[in-house]
Amino acid sequence: MKIYADNAATTKMSKRAIEAMLPYLEDCYGNPSSLYSEGQRAKEAIENARAVIARCIGAAAKEIIFTSGGSEADTQAIVSAAALGKKKGKTHIISDTIEHHAVLHTLKKLEKEGFEVTYLPVHENGIVRPEELEKEIRDDTCLVTVMFANNEIGTVQPVREIGEICKKHNVLFHTDAVQAVGHLHVDVNADNIDMLSASAHKFHGPKGVGFLYVRKGIRPVNIIEGGAQERGFRAGTENVAGIAAMAAALEEACGRIPEVSAKLTVLRDRLIKGLSEIPHSALNGDPVKRLPSNVNFCFEGIEGESLLLLLDDKGISASSGSACTSGSLDPSHVLLAIGRVHDVAHGSLRLTIGEDTTDDGIDYIIGAVKEVVSYLRGFSPVWRDLMSGKSKFIL
Ligand SMILES: *Cc1c(COP(=O)(O)O)cnc(C)c1O
Repeated sequence: MKIYADNAATTKMSKRAIEAMLPYLEDCYGNPSSLYSEGQRAKEAIENARAVIARCIGAAAKEIIFTSGGSEADTQAIVSAAALGKKKGKTHIISDTIEHHAVLHTLKKLEKEGFEVTYLPVHENGIVRPEELEKEIRDDTCLVTVMFANNEIGTVQPVREIGEICKKHNVLFHTDAVQAVGHLHVDVNADNIDMLSASAHKFHGPKGVGFLYVRKGIRPVNIIEGGAQERGFRAGTENVAGIAAMAAALEEACGRIPEVSAKLTVLRDRLIKGLSEIPHSALNGDPVKRLPSNVNFCFEGIEGESLLLLLDDKGISASSGSACTSGSLDPSHVLLAIGRVHDVAHGSLRLTIGEDTTDDGIDYIIGAVKEVVSYLRGFSPVWRDLMSGKSKFIL
Protein backbone atom coordinates (compact mmCIF):
# COMPACT_ATOMS: atom_id res chain seq x y z
CA MET A 1 0.00 0.00 0.00
CA LYS A 2 1.17 3.54 -0.80
CA ILE A 3 0.14 6.18 1.71
CA TYR A 4 1.10 9.82 1.56
CA ALA A 5 0.85 11.14 5.13
CA ASP A 6 2.95 14.27 4.87
CA ASN A 7 0.40 16.87 3.80
CA ALA A 8 1.83 19.44 6.20
CA ALA A 9 5.05 19.37 4.19
CA THR A 10 3.28 19.75 0.87
CA THR A 11 0.13 18.58 -0.88
CA LYS A 12 -0.64 16.99 -4.20
CA MET A 13 -1.91 19.50 -6.75
CA SER A 14 -5.61 19.23 -7.48
CA LYS A 15 -6.76 18.51 -11.03
CA ARG A 16 -8.52 21.85 -11.14
CA ALA A 17 -5.36 23.68 -10.12
CA ILE A 18 -3.32 21.94 -12.81
CA GLU A 19 -5.94 22.76 -15.42
CA ALA A 20 -6.05 26.39 -14.32
CA MET A 21 -2.32 26.59 -14.81
CA LEU A 22 -1.99 25.18 -18.31
CA PRO A 23 -3.34 28.06 -20.45
CA TYR A 24 -0.71 30.39 -18.95
CA LEU A 25 2.09 27.95 -19.67
CA GLU A 26 1.00 27.05 -23.20
CA ASP A 27 -0.72 29.86 -25.10
CA CYS A 28 -1.17 32.85 -22.86
CA TYR A 29 2.46 33.32 -21.91
CA GLY A 30 2.62 37.09 -22.32
CA ASN A 31 4.19 39.29 -19.67
CA PRO A 32 1.38 40.85 -17.59
CA SER A 33 3.18 44.21 -17.76
CA SER A 34 3.02 44.26 -21.57
CA LEU A 35 0.45 46.47 -23.22
CA TYR A 36 -0.55 44.20 -26.12
CA SER A 37 -3.50 41.90 -25.68
CA GLU A 38 -1.43 38.78 -24.87
CA GLY A 39 0.04 40.58 -21.88
CA GLN A 40 -3.27 42.04 -20.87
CA ARG A 41 -4.88 38.59 -20.81
CA ALA A 42 -2.23 37.45 -18.37
CA LYS A 43 -2.82 40.58 -16.31
CA GLU A 44 -6.53 39.79 -16.26
CA ALA A 45 -5.84 36.28 -15.02
CA ILE A 46 -3.85 37.72 -12.13
CA GLU A 47 -6.58 40.18 -11.19
CA ASN A 48 -9.27 37.49 -11.38
CA ALA A 49 -7.16 35.29 -9.12
CA ARG A 50 -6.68 38.17 -6.70
CA ALA A 51 -10.44 38.66 -6.42
CA VAL A 52 -11.08 34.94 -5.89
CA ILE A 53 -8.39 34.63 -3.23
CA ALA A 54 -9.53 37.77 -1.43
CA ARG A 55 -13.09 36.44 -1.32
CA CYS A 56 -11.91 33.16 0.21
CA ILE A 57 -10.52 34.95 3.29
CA GLY A 58 -13.03 37.80 3.50
CA ALA A 59 -10.58 40.42 2.22
CA ALA A 60 -10.67 43.00 -0.58
CA ALA A 61 -8.70 42.27 -3.76
CA LYS A 62 -6.42 45.28 -3.18
CA GLU A 63 -5.34 43.78 0.13
CA ILE A 64 -3.65 40.77 -1.51
CA ILE A 65 0.03 40.77 -2.53
CA PHE A 66 1.32 37.76 -4.44
CA THR A 67 4.59 36.31 -3.20
CA SER A 68 6.80 33.30 -3.86
CA GLY A 69 5.23 31.45 -0.94
CA GLY A 70 4.74 31.39 2.80
CA SER A 71 8.31 32.22 3.77
CA GLU A 72 8.39 35.37 1.70
CA ALA A 73 4.97 36.47 2.95
CA ASP A 74 6.04 35.96 6.58
CA THR A 75 9.24 37.91 6.02
CA GLN A 76 7.51 40.79 4.27
CA ALA A 77 4.79 41.04 6.91
CA ILE A 78 7.20 41.15 9.82
CA VAL A 79 9.73 43.45 8.16
CA SER A 80 6.88 45.80 7.20
CA ALA A 81 5.44 45.95 10.71
CA ALA A 82 8.92 46.49 12.13
CA ALA A 83 9.63 49.35 9.71
CA LEU A 84 6.30 51.00 10.51
CA GLY A 85 6.94 50.57 14.22
CA LYS A 86 10.44 51.96 14.08
CA LYS A 87 9.16 55.17 12.50
CA LYS A 88 7.08 55.70 15.64
CA GLY A 89 9.85 54.62 18.00
CA LYS A 90 8.14 51.27 18.67
CA THR A 91 10.62 48.40 18.61
CA HIS A 92 8.99 45.66 20.67
CA ILE A 93 7.48 42.56 19.06
CA ILE A 94 5.52 39.70 20.62
CA SER A 95 5.59 36.20 19.17
CA ASP A 96 5.79 32.66 20.55
CA THR A 97 8.20 29.75 20.72
CA ILE A 98 6.58 27.44 18.12
CA GLU A 99 6.52 29.67 15.05
CA HIS A 100 7.84 28.49 11.68
CA HIS A 101 11.49 29.33 11.01
CA ALA A 102 10.42 31.88 8.39
CA VAL A 103 9.03 33.90 11.32
CA LEU A 104 11.64 33.00 13.95
CA HIS A 105 14.64 33.72 11.73
CA THR A 106 13.18 37.04 10.59
CA LEU A 107 12.66 37.97 14.24
CA LYS A 108 16.25 36.95 15.10
CA LYS A 109 17.48 39.29 12.38
CA LEU A 110 15.39 42.14 13.76
CA GLU A 111 16.75 41.47 17.26
CA LYS A 112 20.25 42.03 15.86
CA GLU A 113 19.00 45.35 14.50
CA GLY A 114 17.85 46.47 17.93
CA PHE A 115 14.29 45.16 18.16
CA GLU A 116 13.22 43.40 21.32
CA VAL A 117 11.15 40.23 20.93
CA THR A 118 9.07 38.54 23.64
CA TYR A 119 8.53 34.85 22.90
CA LEU A 120 5.41 33.63 24.67
CA PRO A 121 5.43 30.09 26.03
CA VAL A 122 2.82 27.73 24.61
CA HIS A 123 2.52 25.33 27.58
CA GLU A 124 2.10 21.56 27.28
CA ASN A 125 -0.81 21.69 24.87
CA GLY A 126 1.04 23.95 22.41
CA ILE A 127 -1.35 26.87 22.69
CA VAL A 128 -0.68 30.54 23.44
CA ARG A 129 -2.78 31.99 26.26
CA PRO A 130 -4.33 35.30 25.21
CA GLU A 131 -4.35 36.68 28.76
CA GLU A 132 -0.59 36.14 28.97
CA LEU A 133 -0.15 37.81 25.60
CA GLU A 134 -2.12 40.85 26.71
CA LYS A 135 0.14 41.26 29.76
CA GLU A 136 3.19 41.51 27.50
CA ILE A 137 1.82 44.36 25.37
CA ARG A 138 3.71 47.59 26.05
CA ASP A 139 3.55 51.15 24.76
CA ASP A 140 6.37 50.36 22.35
CA THR A 141 4.89 47.10 21.00
CA CYS A 142 4.55 47.38 17.21
CA LEU A 143 3.62 43.82 16.25
CA VAL A 144 2.14 40.57 17.50
CA THR A 145 2.87 37.61 15.25
CA VAL A 146 1.26 34.29 16.22
CA MET A 147 0.60 31.49 13.76
CA PHE A 148 -2.93 30.31 13.00
CA ALA A 149 -2.09 26.61 13.16
CA ASN A 150 1.20 24.88 13.83
CA ASN A 151 2.84 22.87 11.08
CA GLU A 152 4.34 20.23 13.39
CA ILE A 153 1.85 19.55 16.16
CA GLY A 154 -1.21 20.98 14.44
CA THR A 155 -2.39 23.12 17.34
CA VAL A 156 -4.82 25.86 16.39
CA GLN A 157 -4.27 29.15 18.22
CA PRO A 158 -7.04 31.38 19.57
CA VAL A 159 -6.45 33.80 16.71
CA ARG A 160 -9.71 35.71 17.00
CA GLU A 161 -9.13 36.46 20.68
CA ILE A 162 -5.51 37.44 20.07
CA GLY A 163 -6.62 39.70 17.23
CA GLU A 164 -9.20 41.32 19.45
CA ILE A 165 -6.58 42.08 22.10
CA CYS A 166 -4.27 43.57 19.48
CA LYS A 167 -7.07 45.70 18.10
CA LYS A 168 -7.91 46.97 21.59
CA HIS A 169 -4.28 47.97 22.18
CA ASN A 170 -3.76 49.29 18.66
CA VAL A 171 -0.97 46.81 17.85
CA LEU A 172 -0.60 45.20 14.41
CA PHE A 173 -1.46 41.50 14.30
CA HIS A 174 0.15 39.17 11.77
CA THR A 175 -0.63 35.48 11.53
CA ASP A 176 1.24 32.81 9.60
CA ALA A 177 -1.85 30.99 8.33
CA VAL A 178 0.00 28.71 5.91
CA GLN A 179 -1.40 25.58 7.58
CA ALA A 180 -4.86 27.04 8.05
CA VAL A 181 -5.87 28.69 4.78
CA GLY A 182 -7.89 26.24 2.70
CA HIS A 183 -8.28 23.91 5.70
CA LEU A 184 -10.02 25.97 8.38
CA HIS A 185 -12.49 28.80 8.04
CA VAL A 186 -10.47 32.03 7.93
CA ASP A 187 -12.03 35.49 7.81
CA VAL A 188 -9.60 38.36 8.23
CA ASN A 189 -12.27 40.72 9.55
CA ALA A 190 -14.06 38.38 11.95
CA ASP A 191 -10.67 37.08 13.11
CA ASN A 192 -9.25 40.60 13.61
CA ILE A 193 -6.21 39.91 11.43
CA ASP A 194 -4.12 42.78 9.99
CA MET A 195 -1.66 40.67 8.01
CA LEU A 196 -1.82 37.03 6.97
CA SER A 197 0.55 34.70 5.13
CA ALA A 198 -0.50 31.75 2.97
CA SER A 199 1.13 29.33 0.56
CA ALA A 200 -0.46 27.53 -2.40
CA HIS A 201 1.36 24.21 -2.07
CA LYS A 202 -0.18 23.63 1.35
CA PHE A 203 -3.70 23.64 -0.13
CA HIS A 204 -3.25 21.60 -3.32
CA GLY A 205 -1.81 24.42 -5.40
CA PRO A 206 1.69 24.62 -6.91
CA LYS A 207 4.93 25.24 -5.04
CA GLY A 208 6.67 28.60 -5.21
CA VAL A 209 3.62 30.82 -4.97
CA GLY A 210 1.72 32.31 -2.06
CA PHE A 211 0.22 35.53 -0.87
CA LEU A 212 0.28 38.12 1.84
CA TYR A 213 -2.88 39.83 3.01
CA VAL A 214 -2.29 43.37 4.25
CA ARG A 215 -5.23 45.26 5.71
CA LYS A 216 -6.13 48.49 3.91
CA GLY A 217 -4.36 51.44 5.47
CA ILE A 218 -1.21 49.51 6.35
CA ARG A 219 1.65 50.23 3.98
CA PRO A 220 3.88 47.22 3.43
CA VAL A 221 7.60 47.55 2.77
CA ASN A 222 8.81 45.66 -0.27
CA ILE A 223 11.60 43.18 0.33
CA ILE A 224 12.19 42.52 -3.38
CA GLU A 225 13.24 45.56 -5.38
CA GLY A 226 12.70 46.13 -9.08
CA GLY A 227 9.65 46.88 -11.22
CA ALA A 228 6.31 48.22 -10.14
CA GLN A 229 4.43 44.90 -10.05
CA GLU A 230 1.97 44.33 -7.19
CA ARG A 231 1.44 48.09 -6.94
CA GLY A 232 5.10 48.55 -6.12
CA PHE A 233 4.99 46.27 -3.08
CA ARG A 234 6.62 43.23 -4.68
CA ALA A 235 8.81 43.49 -7.74
CA GLY A 236 9.35 40.76 -10.31
CA THR A 237 7.38 39.37 -13.24
CA GLU A 238 4.38 37.63 -11.79
CA ASN A 239 4.09 33.84 -11.60
CA VAL A 240 0.94 33.99 -13.73
CA ALA A 241 0.32 30.25 -14.06
CA GLY A 242 1.06 29.69 -10.38
CA ILE A 243 -1.22 32.51 -9.29
CA ALA A 244 -4.08 31.24 -11.47
CA ALA A 245 -3.61 27.74 -10.09
CA MET A 246 -3.43 29.00 -6.52
CA ALA A 247 -6.79 30.74 -6.91
CA ALA A 248 -8.38 27.61 -8.39
CA ALA A 249 -6.96 25.44 -5.61
CA LEU A 250 -8.07 27.80 -2.86
CA GLU A 251 -11.57 28.25 -4.22
CA GLU A 252 -11.95 24.49 -4.43
CA ALA A 253 -10.51 23.89 -0.96
CA CYS A 254 -12.56 26.61 0.72
CA GLY A 255 -15.76 25.28 -0.79
CA ARG A 256 -15.18 21.94 0.88
CA ILE A 257 -13.84 22.83 4.33
CA PRO A 258 -16.81 21.54 6.39
CA GLU A 259 -17.01 18.27 4.46
CA VAL A 260 -13.27 17.55 4.37
CA SER A 261 -12.58 18.57 7.96
CA ALA A 262 -15.44 16.40 9.25
CA LYS A 263 -14.08 13.42 7.35
CA LEU A 264 -10.48 13.99 8.40
CA THR A 265 -11.36 14.57 12.06
CA VAL A 266 -12.89 11.09 12.29
CA LEU A 267 -9.86 9.50 10.61
CA ARG A 268 -7.44 11.54 12.71
CA ASP A 269 -9.07 10.55 15.97
CA ARG A 270 -9.05 6.90 14.99
CA LEU A 271 -5.37 7.15 14.15
CA ILE A 272 -4.67 8.84 17.49
CA LYS A 273 -6.60 6.14 19.32
CA GLY A 274 -4.72 3.38 17.51
CA LEU A 275 -1.27 4.83 18.11
CA SER A 276 -2.08 5.56 21.76
CA GLU A 277 -2.16 1.80 22.31
CA ILE A 278 1.60 1.71 21.81
CA PRO A 279 3.16 1.64 25.30
CA HIS A 280 5.23 4.63 26.38
CA SER A 281 3.89 6.89 23.68
CA ALA A 282 2.24 10.30 23.85
CA LEU A 283 0.29 12.57 21.55
CA ASN A 284 1.95 15.94 20.99
CA GLY A 285 -0.26 19.01 21.03
CA ASP A 286 -3.87 19.52 22.02
CA PRO A 287 -6.19 16.56 21.40
CA VAL A 288 -9.08 18.79 20.28
CA LYS A 289 -7.74 22.20 19.23
CA ARG A 290 -5.72 20.76 16.37
CA LEU A 291 -5.87 20.58 12.59
CA PRO A 292 -8.15 17.77 11.35
CA SER A 293 -5.20 16.39 9.37
CA ASN A 294 -2.54 16.34 12.07
CA VAL A 295 -1.31 13.47 14.24
CA ASN A 296 1.99 13.84 16.07
CA PHE A 297 3.37 11.32 18.53
CA CYS A 298 6.47 10.67 20.58
CA PHE A 299 7.56 7.09 21.16
CA GLU A 300 10.10 6.56 23.89
CA GLY A 301 13.27 4.60 23.18
CA ILE A 302 13.49 5.04 19.39
CA GLU A 303 14.92 7.41 16.79
CA GLY A 304 12.54 9.24 14.48
CA GLU A 305 14.81 8.82 11.44
CA SER A 306 14.85 5.03 11.67
CA LEU A 307 11.11 5.04 12.09
CA LEU A 308 10.69 7.13 8.93
CA LEU A 309 12.96 4.90 6.85
CA LEU A 310 11.18 1.72 7.90
CA LEU A 311 7.77 3.30 7.30
CA ASP A 312 8.98 4.36 3.87
CA ASP A 313 9.79 0.70 3.18
CA LYS A 314 6.17 -0.02 3.97
CA GLY A 315 5.03 2.67 1.53
CA ILE A 316 4.19 5.32 4.13
CA SER A 317 5.50 8.88 3.68
CA ALA A 318 5.68 10.63 7.03
CA SER A 319 7.82 13.13 8.86
CA SER A 320 9.64 13.53 12.16
CA GLY A 321 10.74 16.38 14.37
CA SER A 322 13.95 14.61 15.20
CA ALA A 323 17.36 16.11 14.62
CA CYS A 324 18.65 14.57 11.40
CA THR A 325 15.48 15.12 9.42
CA SER A 326 15.52 18.82 10.24
CA GLY A 327 19.20 19.09 9.36
CA SER A 328 20.25 20.44 12.74
CA LEU A 329 21.62 18.93 15.94
CA ASP A 330 18.68 19.85 18.13
CA PRO A 331 15.33 18.17 17.79
CA SER A 332 12.30 20.23 16.82
CA HIS A 333 12.03 23.55 18.64
CA VAL A 334 8.28 22.94 18.75
CA LEU A 335 8.56 19.66 20.64
CA LEU A 336 11.08 21.20 23.05
CA ALA A 337 8.72 24.15 23.55
CA ILE A 338 5.90 21.88 24.69
CA GLY A 339 8.23 20.35 27.24
CA ARG A 340 9.45 17.19 25.53
CA VAL A 341 13.00 16.38 26.64
CA HIS A 342 15.64 15.79 23.91
CA ASP A 343 15.53 11.98 24.05
CA VAL A 344 11.77 11.85 23.77
CA ALA A 345 11.60 14.54 21.08
CA HIS A 346 14.00 12.44 18.98
CA GLY A 347 11.42 9.68 18.81
CA SER A 348 8.70 11.75 17.17
CA LEU A 349 6.46 10.99 14.23
CA ARG A 350 4.21 13.39 12.32
CA LEU A 351 1.47 11.95 10.15
CA THR A 352 -0.59 14.50 8.24
CA ILE A 353 -3.45 12.90 6.38
CA GLY A 354 -5.41 14.23 3.42
CA GLU A 355 -8.65 13.89 1.54
CA ASP A 356 -7.55 10.69 -0.16
CA THR A 357 -6.72 8.93 3.11
CA THR A 358 -9.10 6.02 3.63
CA ASP A 359 -10.28 3.91 6.58
CA ASP A 360 -8.12 1.07 5.35
CA GLY A 361 -5.20 3.45 5.08
CA ILE A 362 -5.57 4.40 8.74
CA ASP A 363 -5.63 0.74 9.77
CA TYR A 364 -2.57 0.10 7.65
CA ILE A 365 -0.68 3.02 9.26
CA ILE A 366 -1.60 1.90 12.78
CA GLY A 367 -0.42 -1.64 12.08
CA ALA A 368 2.79 -0.50 10.42
CA VAL A 369 3.74 1.98 13.16
CA LYS A 370 3.06 -0.56 15.91
CA GLU A 371 5.22 -3.13 14.16
CA VAL A 372 8.07 -0.75 13.37
CA VAL A 373 8.18 0.81 16.85
CA SER A 374 8.32 -2.56 18.52
CA TYR A 375 10.96 -3.78 16.04
CA LEU A 376 13.17 -0.74 16.65
CA ARG A 377 12.79 -1.00 20.40
CA GLY A 378 13.97 -4.61 20.11
CA PHE A 379 17.54 -3.52 19.51
CA SER A 380 17.55 -0.03 21.04
CA PRO A 381 20.07 0.34 23.90
CA VAL A 382 17.98 3.22 25.24
CA TRP A 383 14.94 0.95 25.39
CA ARG A 384 16.97 -1.81 27.07
CA ASP A 385 18.02 0.60 29.83
CA LEU A 386 14.44 1.72 30.28
CA MET A 387 13.17 -1.85 30.51
CA SER A 388 15.88 -2.94 32.96
CA GLY A 389 15.13 0.04 35.18
CA LYS A 390 18.58 1.55 34.59
CA SER A 391 16.87 4.69 33.35
CA LYS A 392 13.36 5.93 34.02
CA PHE A 393 10.46 6.13 31.60
CA ILE A 394 9.22 9.63 30.93
CA LEU A 395 6.13 8.74 28.91
C1 LIG B 1 5.20 25.53 4.80
C2 LIG B 1 5.12 26.61 5.82
C3 LIG B 1 5.74 27.86 5.60
C4 LIG B 1 6.62 28.12 4.40
O1 LIG B 1 5.89 28.20 3.23
P1 LIG B 1 6.67 28.07 1.81
O2 LIG B 1 5.63 28.38 0.81
O3 LIG B 1 7.15 26.68 1.74
O4 LIG B 1 7.76 29.09 1.85
C5 LIG B 1 5.58 28.83 6.55
N1 LIG B 1 4.84 28.61 7.65
C6 LIG B 1 4.22 27.45 7.89
C7 LIG B 1 3.40 27.30 9.10
C8 LIG B 1 4.35 26.40 6.98
O5 LIG B 1 3.75 25.25 7.23
